[in-house]
Amino acid sequence: MNDNAHDSNAVPDEPVPPSLQGDIERILFPRRRIAARIRALAGRIGGDFGDRPMMLAAIMTGSLIFVADLIRHLPLRMRIHLFGLSSYAGAATESDGARMLGQRGAEFAGKHVLIIDDILDSGRTLAATVEACRLAGAESIRTCVLLRKPPARRKPGGLDQVDYVGFDVPDVWVVGYGLDYGDYYRNLPDIAVLKKKC
Ligand code: 5GP
Ligand code: MG
Repeated sequence: MNDNAHDSNAVPDEPVPPSLQGDIERILFPRRRIAARIRALAGRIGGDFGDRPMMLAAIMTGSLIFVADLIRHLPLRMRIHLFGLSSYAGAATESDGARMLGQRGAEFAGKHVLIIDDILDSGRTLAATVEACRLAGAESIRTCVLLRKPPARRKPGGLDQVDYVGFDVPDVWVVGYGLDYGDYYRNLPDIAVLKKKC
């Protein structure tokens, strides 16, 4: 868990595609390191869930690649729900929970839910998602993020305690491996910091 987020030797195993290279300041986590961390996370999650069927709830679009890789290391009986929200600012309410889950809400009742997001920042997206699953009658709810920003980033009403974390990152804007800037860079195979533009 004590992965060094500031590793200046973090070079990608393969070069960053030239079309994406110009905007990248540095690579935080190269693809091979991400893959190793995901295998370790999957081992823990698999052990914790055991033979309980899982409802995996992934917050789109940032968790797209993380989820795709993680589930292939999770030999559990599972169903998948995709939350189609890119960010969620407000406090959770009953109607918000219903809206977030829509018609699929009933499928969460009595289920062991694992919520997955790309990155924990203010914590509000995860707080709202947890609340939606709780209102839908989930039996148990666990949370998992690939990346976690420093605790000072958390805002009132935000979730702070996450069950599974891939890497801690500094307070910078990260892209790649599903994470975007203006909807670009999601296809970068490594996790990187963007250059600051004036
Ligand atoms: P929170 O609700 O915790 O403030 O924000 C979580 C959401 O904000 C994430 O799902 C992600 O979409 C977005 N986000 C926060 N920080 C970053 C970042 O550094 N890079 C990218 N690409 N998205 C971020
Ligand atoms: Mg997101």
